[in-house]
Amino acid sequence: MRALTFEYHGIAQSELNSAKAIGAAAGVLEHRIIRLPDLKEAGDIPGFRPRGLPQTYIPLRNSIFYAFAASFAEETEAGSIVGGHNRDDIEVFVDVSSDFFRSFQKSLWSGSRILRANRTRIVRPLKDKRKAEVIKLAASLRVPLELTWSCHRDGKEHCWQCDGCHSRIRCFAEAGLKDPLAPPDLEKIT
Ligand SMILES: [Zn+2]
Repeated sequence: MRALTFEYHGIAQSELNSAKAIGAAAGVLEHRIIRLPDLKEAGDIPGFRPRGLPQTYIPLRNSIFYAFAASFAEETEAGSIVGGHNRDDIEVFVDVSSDFFRSFQKSLWSGSRILRANRTRIVRPLKDKRKAEVIKLAASLRVPLELTWSCHRDGKEHCWQCDGCHSRIRCFAEAGLKDPLAPPDLEKIT
């Protein structure tokens, strides 16, 4: 098992550190970090305000990310490329839809003899689950949730004020689980 993380423009260093820690905890053979300093979120691109999409949207993100993942899979002769998209993401972004992945999969096999010969597939085991269900599943599998990062800002700790933090608070509450990262006075500071 190998891991792939993208260091795009403005990504919180804490998120990168968290990805590395989780990869290490999972015992990955290799954790490759692809640096894409020119790839920016909509909020960081002057004059670009895509309708109906959040500020964190990255133009054509998954076409780019999965092309790198497929290249990595070709090089390492991997049998699967695993994406962690959940049902909540699918409702917002068209590039996590089944339609997108069906046609992208087809393109990969058309464009790579190795991927076709190895029957390398993109799999999305969390695609039918909401974020709260993903948290429940993670807790049942003893995933070290204390190593995860949801905040959009950088820092030693989560800010508990941004959209990423609010979503985390909501989803842990929905899952009926205690967030190992939540400070005791969380209700007062949000
Ligand atoms: Zn935050």
